[in-house]
Amino acid sequence: ARKAAMVKETIRVYARVKPLGRRQQAGIYSVDDDEKSLSSLEIIVPHDLADGFVNNKRESYKFKFQKIFDQEAKQDVVFDNIAKPVAECVLAGYNGTIFAYGQTGSGKTFTITGGAERYSDRGIIPRTLSYIFDQLQKDGSKVYTTHVSYLEIYNECGYDLLDPRHEASRLEDLPKVTIMEDPDQNIHLKNLSLQQATNEEEALNLLFLGDTNRMIAETPTNQASSRSHCIFTIHISSKEPGSATIRRSKLHLVDLAGSERVAKTGVGGHLLTEAKYINLSLHYLEQVIIALAEKNRSHIPYRNSMMTSVLRDSLGGNCMTTMIATLSIDRRNIDESISTCRFAQRVALIKNEAVLNEEIDPTLMIVKLKKEIQELKDELVLVTGKQRTSELSQEELLQLDELIEAFLEDNDPDSTLDVGADMRKIKYCFLHLKQLMKDSKMSDKKLHLQRNSEEKDTNKELEEEELKKMKELLQQRDNEINILVNMLKKEKKRAQEALFQFNAASAGSTVLEQSLYVNSEESQSPASSFSPKEAKDFSSSVHRLALLSRQTGGKMSLGCQEAFEVFKQDHADSITIEDNKELLKQRFAEAKCLGEKLNEVRNKINHLKGEITQRHIQRAVLAVSSPSEELNTLDPVEEQLRTQIEEEKKSYKTMFNHLKGLKVEIEHLQLLMEKAKMKLQKDFEVWWSEEAQNLQQEKPEMVSSSNTMTVYPQLRKTSHLSINSFSETTRVGPSEDPAGKNNSINSSNPISKTRTPASSSIPLTGDSQADADILAFMKARQNILQKKGKSCQ
Ligand code: ADP
Ligand code: MG
Repeated sequence: ARKAAMVKETIRVYARVKPLGRRQQAGIYSVDDDEKSLSSLEIIVPHDLADGFVNNKRESYKFKFQKIFDQEAKQDVVFDNIAKPVAECVLAGYNGTIFAYGQTGSGKTFTITGGAERYSDRGIIPRTLSYIFDQLQKDGSKVYTTHVSYLEIYNECGYDLLDPRHEASRLEDLPKVTIMEDPDQNIHLKNLSLQQATNEEEALNLLFLGDTNRMIAETPTNQASSRSHCIFTIHISSKEPGSATIRRSKLHLVDLAGSERVAKTGVGGHLLTEAKYINLSLHYLEQVIIALAEKNRSHIPYRNSMMTSVLRDSLGGNCMTTMIATLSIDRRNIDESISTCRFAQRVALIKNEAVLNEEIDPTLMIVKLKKEIQELKDELVLVTGKQRTSELSQEELLQLDELIEAFLEDNDPDSTLDVGADMRKIKYCFLHLKQLMKDSKMSDKKLHLQRNSEEKDTNKELEEEELKKMKELLQQRDNEINILVNMLKKEKKRAQEALFQFNAASAGSTVLEQSLYVNSEESQSPASSFSPKEAKDFSSSVHRLALLSRQTGGKMSLGCQEAFEVFKQDHADSITIEDNKELLKQRFAEAKCLGEKLNEVRNKINHLKGEITQRHIQRAVLAVSSPSEELNTLDPVEEQLRTQIEEEKKSYKTMFNHLKGLKVEIEHLQLLMEKAKMKLQKDFEVWWSEEAQNLQQEKPEMVSSSNTMTVYPQLRKTSHLSINSFSETTRVGPSEDPAGKNNSINSSNPISKTRTPASSSIPLTGDSQADADILAFMKARQNILQKKGKSCQ
């Protein structure tokens, strides 16, 4: 999670000339500051040196620098020009490096760290620290963390100058720092301590600690300060409050070892070895810098030295790099000065791409996202007024499934799948549809594969498929028939018992029972909504059964209905229904009677009212023709009529209240009946499917066996026989022919005698409706068997 913002920059190279006595440097170099962008430094080789020491015929050398700081340049100016821009970049999140390159005694340490005598001699490190902490304090928009590290590299070994646990007297006493490379080729410095510095003072204390260690470790024999590289690094990380993005940057302030060559230092074996090392590591630095300057160079030899490894991300792409070439231009050091400048020119060619170091802290990101989610949820609750959980409930999922199904089955081109503005539901719908697509593709593929592999047998296969379908149909029919047969057996047994009772006692109850259907339909009571309602219930139950039979896959609605009729008679709930029906009938009759009575009373009252009016007219006429005092008094006849009206009104009210009570009772009874019917229907459906299952379990070979002939050896013969029997059978229904109940038992006897045991019987029932179905199945079965017989040959 790293975001990079590139900034193309060449490495800025500055020159600083160390103050020297006037006599030593007069006429040796000149600085040309005229040019606006770059300054040039001309080194003039004195004639007396040109032939000998430098062995070069040229008289002068010109070098370009970003800026040249001559002898009188003060530390604050150097800082402002060189270090401040880099520090600003580092504060913005880029890496930065400033390194001082030059021979021993040219002022590298003075420039980087500063002189020890005066406060104004403070170098780049303390001034940068001061500047950075100033800026951090000013910027309240971010949270900053600052660490410093101080590394000394001597003879390819790293030493931690900031380890507070060690009282170092020699460099070797300090913790050794080693380089580790991770799989992403990032460099890690093991054992280099990162000391946190929360303010300028702490940072300066650490710098002092490091410088002290560096100084103590220096002995006259190794002169570490001139032969070692020192890298002081300021690490800054910043984060905006509430943001998960962390910016990390570091600023390397590098005091390189003296760049003087071996030839000049070659005074003895030991020292020579050291000198070689120093030059070698600077040589590798130069190689890296040259490689970086070359275009299309893929391999940069960072690994050749510890120095280049450490500065890897500060020399190449990810850095604002600045070099200060420190020069001590006196007669003795002209060749060294020229070689320092040459090095600087090569460095100046490098084009760097500084990268903004941003990375996302995953834990902070999670915290931030969680907060955002909660806020959005709160907003959602506010807008919708509904608390929303992340998961859809089982109920909601089922609802969605139904919606999708309805949508898919709807042929109307304008139909839409509307689940509301709920992303969870929308997502679920898409997932569901995807799954459906996948399933259909899979089955298509399977089919395709099958067809491909058996292309030649297509006909045979189609035939087999059809056969399979028919077999399934047959299976269903068989089940149905067996259920009916079992039922009718039971029914007949019951009927025989009933017949016995009937013969022994009386036929009253049966007649009453049978008359119920007729009567309830005929009754024209005031609340006569009962009969149409009954009809509606019946049609809805038929509809449900039709649905049920469709689910089971066959055209067995007739058989199923038949079964339902029988089941109804057997069922305990049907007694309740019948009882209630009876009660309802009574109530209807009562209500009808009451209604009639009420009408009568109303008519009576109206009649009485008319009589009174008549009486009024008579009296008025009498008063005109023969006025008498008698007419002014109350009319006793009218009085009597009025009392009569009052009485009738009273009885009307009582009857009316009674009728109201009856209406409530009737409505209640209707509800009860509806409930009982529903239960009955459900019970039947359960029983029906159980029965079908039981049959399948009893005879699993019916499903698995491909040879139905062996299961039903006498099938063809018996079915043929039953067709003949059917034509002679009269239609008898228990509900339609109450008087024929005995007949139905008797007349079906001849057929029942032809029956074989139930499991493999010709399942004729004597009931013409069922038998018609059964015969249809038989024919279908026969067809299938004939087909099968053909295909097997
Ligand atoms: P280096 O680190 O390159 O070996 P130093 O920084 O130790 O060289 O400098 C050597 C001497 O010269 C020191 O005594 C230092 O104080 C002095 N010196 C270097 N540069 C300057 C300068 N610009 N102004 C004053 N004194 C300087
Ligand atoms: Mg030094």
